[in-house]
Amino acid sequence: MGRVCVIHYSEIGLKGRNRPFFEKMLAENVRRLLSGIVDSKVRRIQGRLVLPLNGADLQRVEEGLMKVFGISWFTFATIAEPNVESIGRTVVEEASQVVKPGEPIKVEVKRADKSFPATSLELSRILGRMLVEKLGVSVSLKNPSKKIYVEVLSKEAYVFTEKKRGLGGLPVGSSGRVLSLLSGGIDSPIASYLMMKRGCRVSYLHFHPFHDNAEAENSKIMEIVRKLLPYSGETTVTFTPSYEFQIATVNVPAKYDLILFRRFMFKVAERIAEAEGAKALVTGESLAQVASQTLENIVAASRGLRIPVFRPLIAFDKEEIVNVAKKIGTYELSIKPYKDCCSIIARHPETRAKLEIVEKLERQIDLDSVVSRSIGLSSRVVVK
Ligand code: ATP
Ligand code: MG
Repeated sequence: MGRVCVIHYSEIGLKGRNRPFFEKMLAENVRRLLSGIVDSKVRRIQGRLVLPLNGADLQRVEEGLMKVFGISWFTFATIAEPNVESIGRTVVEEASQVVKPGEPIKVEVKRADKSFPATSLELSRILGRMLVEKLGVSVSLKNPSKKIYVEVLSKEAYVFTEKKRGLGGLPVGSSGRVLSLLSGGIDSPIASYLMMKRGCRVSYLHFHPFHDNAEAENSKIMEIVRKLLPYSGETTVTFTPSYEFQIATVNVPAKYDLILFRRFMFKVAERIAEAEGAKALVTGESLAQVASQTLENIVAASRGLRIPVFRPLIAFDKEEIVNVAKKIGTYELSIKPYKDCCSIIARHPETRAKLEIVEKLERQIDLDSVVSRSIGLSSRVVVK
C-alpha cells in the first residue's frame, strides 16, 4: 500500500467560512517548502492535507514541514482501504515494525467518516485484539509504551505510529501584510518570525550607515532575510540610508539623537508601509531592555503615527529571544559584526524624552523633508 504524509492543522481560526481560505494558504506553503522534494500534489481531504510520498526523502520532507506555520502535527502514514480487514492487516504490519512482544500498546482510532460500520471504540478494540493475537503485545489504555493510530476517512484509512509536532500558528498569507523594521541585531528577526507565526506576510525595512545602498544589500542583513525566507516566502527588503538624518542632526544635542532617530525610522516606515499595503509596523523592542526602550521612550518614539506598531517581544526576556534565535538559526548571523546605525548614536541617551522638546527639534531640522529625501534615496530588493 502507498505511503502518504498526513498534515493536521490547528482548529483555532480555521472554523467557519474562512476554512477553505486557510487550507489553501497552508497547502500553498507546504507546496513551496516541498518543491523539488515531493512531486505529488497536496490534496485537501476531510479537514487535513494529504500528500502522496512516492518514495520521497522523508527527512527532507520533515525538515520542510518544520518550517510551515499552521501545522499542528503531521505524520507519515500507510494507506489502507476503509474496511476492517484492510485496516487490520495494515495495523499489524505497521505495528510489527515498532513493537516488541509483551510491550503495552494502545490503538487510537479517529473516524472522519462516521458512516463507517464500527464506532471508533469498537474498531480500536478489534484492532487491539488482533495485535495481541498476532504480535503478542498487551493492551494498556492508561500506560501504553507505543500507540498505533488509525484515521478512517470516506475513501481511505491511514495507519501510523508516530505524530510529529509542527510549528503551530497560522499559515503565512492568511493574516495580511506587515512591515518589519529589521536591524542586524538579535531581536528584530525574531519579532518578524513571530508575526509570520500568526499568518502575516512580512516585508522588511533596514536603515544603514553607508553612503551606498549596495553596501547594505551585500551585508549580513540579506543573510538574515534569507534565513527567514523558508518561513515567509517571497518578500522585499527596502534599504534606506541614514546619512540625510545624520547631516540634519549634527547640531542637535547628542542625548536627543536616539529618540529622534527612532522617530525618523518610524516616519519613513509608515510611508513605506502605506505604499506597500502593510497594515502595521513591527519592531523587536522589548520593554526596558536598553536605554532606548524605557516605557517613556517607546511611547514617545511612535506617538502621532497613523499606523500601529506591533512589538511581539515586548514582554520577552533576552534569554527567551536568544533561544528562539538559536533554534531558527538567525543567532549566528545576528552576532556577526555589523556597522549598525545605532553605534554612531549617543552612548547616554535621554531616557525620559519630553515630547514637546522632541517635536520642537523635529520642526527645527524639518524632519518631514529628511524623511522624504531618505525615501527617495532608498532601494528595494525582492528576495525569493
Ligand atoms: P535588535 O536586536 O533587533 O537590533 P536592539 O535590542 O538592538 O534590537 P534597538 O537597537 O534599540 O534594540 O532597536 C529596537 C528596534 O528598532 C529593533 O528591534 C528594530 O526593530 C528597530 N531598529 C533598530 N535599528 C534599526 C535599523 N538600523 N534598521 C531598521 N530597524 C531598526
Ligand atoms: Mg540593535
